[in-house]
Amino acid sequence: MSDLLTHCDHPSESDKALQSLNNLLKINQCNQNEFFELVHRTLLQFVLEQICITMEEKPDCFLAVKRLYFKTADNAEAAQKAAKQLCGIELDTQDSLWLDRCLHAHFRKKPRRKPIPASLKRQLLEKQHYRCACCGAPITVSDCYDHIIPWDFVGDELEDNGQMLCHACNLKKSAKVYFEFQHKMIGCCPI
Ligand SMILES: [Zn+2]
Repeated sequence: MSDLLTHCDHPSESDKALQSLNNLLKINQCNQNEFFELVHRTLLQFVLEQICITMEEKPDCFLAVKRLYFKTADNAEAAQKAAKQLCGIELDTQDSLWLDRCLHAHFRKKPRRKPIPASLKRQLLEKQHYRCACCGAPITVSDCYDHIIPWDFVGDELEDNGQMLCHACNLKKSAKVYFEFQHKMIGCCPI
């Protein structure tokens, strides 16, 4: 983060960078607010990914975060500390609460995936008008249930974390936290 910011220290440099970005968004008919929302969401998922990967690679780290987590009365504060210590990023209260919810899910996560009932798939399909949540292709109940925040990080513990994707998008997304960003910004139009 600090690297990103230092590049923009000089006002004219920062104006130039912002102008280039605005221009890019404009010529691609991207809404600026949606873009910022997407960047924000992707950045938070990168933070979650980095914390989970670090905990997996270093068992000591896993125990330290877990201890920090369950010893602290206010868990949003523990999530904030984990983000600062493992990712070097400061989160505000709202983002810490989001991370807190995900880390709680991570610690409760079961080793195996839960079977997804067809009724839940149908419910999501109706909500999505039987279209893939990424590319908009027509889909049915035989297509794929996807964990919006990848299962690797939060398991089946979050209730509102499901969407339906076509087979092709599901395969491309896998556990990639940047998929939504990449897909919405760059698209994946078949030639
Ligand atoms: Zn699709």
